[in-house]
Amino acid sequence: MSTPPQPRAAVAAIPAYVAGRPPVARDGRRVYKLSSNENPYPPLPGVVEAAERAARQMNRYPDMGNTALYAALAGRLGVDAGQLAAGTGSVAVLYHLLQAFCEPGDQVVHAWRSFEAYPIAITASGAEGVRVPLLADGRHDLDAMADAITERTRVVLVCTPNNPTGPSVTGTELRAFAERVPAHVLLVVDEAYREFVRADDPADPVALLAEHAHVAVMRTFAKAYGLAGFRVGYLVAHPEVAAAVRACSLPFGVSSVAQAAAAAALEAEPELLARVDALVAERDRVRGALLAQGWEVPDAQGNFVWLPLGADALGFTAAAEEAGISVRPFAGDGVRVSIGEPEANDLLLGVAERWKERSTP
Ligand SMILES: *Cc1c(COP(=O)(O)O)cnc(C)c1O
Repeated sequence: MSTPPQPRAAVAAIPAYVAGRPPVARDGRRVYKLSSNENPYPPLPGVVEAAERAARQMNRYPDMGNTALYAALAGRLGVDAGQLAAGTGSVAVLYHLLQAFCEPGDQVVHAWRSFEAYPIAITASGAEGVRVPLLADGRHDLDAMADAITERTRVVLVCTPNNPTGPSVTGTELRAFAERVPAHVLLVVDEAYREFVRADDPADPVALLAEHAHVAVMRTFAKAYGLAGFRVGYLVAHPEVAAAVRACSLPFGVSSVAQAAAAAALEAEPELLARVDALVAERDRVRGALLAQGWEVPDAQGNFVWLPLGADALGFTAAAEEAGISVRPFAGDGVRVSIGEPEANDLLLGVAERWKERSTP
């Protein structure tokens, strides 16, 4: 075969996304997926019905302006609809944002290890990622991140709580950081797990928008709101920033089914947030039990815990699979385990306990 047309050089450098694996079927035993930080609860009835109603009109394009969804979000967040930009998941919103703000060779500063979609989206945009190592306890090193900003920096990403390690940035830390980030650099705060935070002095980046035109907030319906399969997330930012992101967005990107389900999920917020409370209680139970077993687990403010297993990450993952749970390994570094059904969390605690007993003489 002859050589086909060649893509941009950056394309060959895009790292592959490693998706959380489904659990391996075991005869007679239930297995659980704890590898993608999904919400283990099935959707609420009102949400399913809204999605079904929308599905009956699948011959029509969705509302390109996301009007009902923006109106519902604007009311809840106390912002103008013009400050919002929705996309097919907050990862898509990040792609559009980088396309809108980065020229080839511009720099994007972010913590590492952090969300694995960052290097993928940054490389795809043609920008250059600048990775700032986390502190030993899994927190962002915000001082080092501020120091890493150069005249080529266009965007700084803060992931709070940090996926996959778990700690969150405090309100005091974020405010001080926003003051250190120059006004021409966009400070993007990824709050995918915001609803699970129970730390003292939680960050409230949307409140920072009033004083800081360079702050932008990404949120998603994939985690607490239980709509991972429908792909919908959004940006809250200065109206000009949001307009730039909307300008780069796929026309009709968010499906009518996703828009309807997201609006219905907002209506069902009290029930959804009660489920989040139950997941938070399970998270704290799991982390407490792991600490009691002798594990060093960073503060967990999302719907997952991080086990710093180093070279044992893949071995532990295999042991978890044997026990009927799929977890998310990061080879050579650690394992992230989502909080699931209580019986699934108990399976994790069993694997973790046996692992400790085996490896502690
Ligand atoms: C899951 C997750 C998202 C959300 O991604 P979607 O595209 O909305 O599904 C964003 N940021 C982080 C850190 C996440 O873990």
